[in-house]
Parts: sequence; C-alpha cells; structure tokens
Amino acid sequence: MGSIFGARVKRRLRAIVDEADRAAEYQQMFNDQALEDQKQRPALIPDWKCRWCDAPLERKGFYCDSDCEEDARKHRQMRGI
Ligand SMILES: [Zn+2]
Repeated sequence: MGSIFGARVKRRLRAIVDEADRAAEYQQMFNDQALEDQKQRPALIPDWKCRWCDAPLERKGFYCDSDCEEDARKHRQMRGI
C-alpha cells in the first residue's frame, strides 16, 4: 500500500493504537484487582447485623433497611466494584 496517510495522520493513528493498548492494560489491571478484592471479601452470608451500620437485625440478613442497602450499593459503585 502506498502512503495514503500523511505523516501527521500516521502519528495520530499510532497514538490511537497506543491508547487502545494502554486501555487494554488498564482493563487487565482492573480485572486483576477485582479478583483480588473478591478473594479478600468475606463470603456473602446473611448475618444478624447490618453490613452497613452494624445495627442488630431481628432476623438474618444483610442490611437493617433499604436505605442502608442503597448506601452500601452506592459505596460499592463509587469504589467501582
Ligand atoms: Zn443499617
């Protein structure tokens, strides 16, 4: 193929490819981190206290109310989990 792209366009394309490579690398890093987090996180078994505010629960569960569940969910999202 002859040079249909100017040098500047080629450089730009090269930069895009580099970016894609980096993105894939980051993705891999995030995946590894997510796996690590999963290993460290305790198993999700219902407990007698709220996982968010530690309030005692009347029956086994994860959260004392839907607010706590919502807050915990937002917190997880913020951390990107
Ligand atoms: Zn709670």
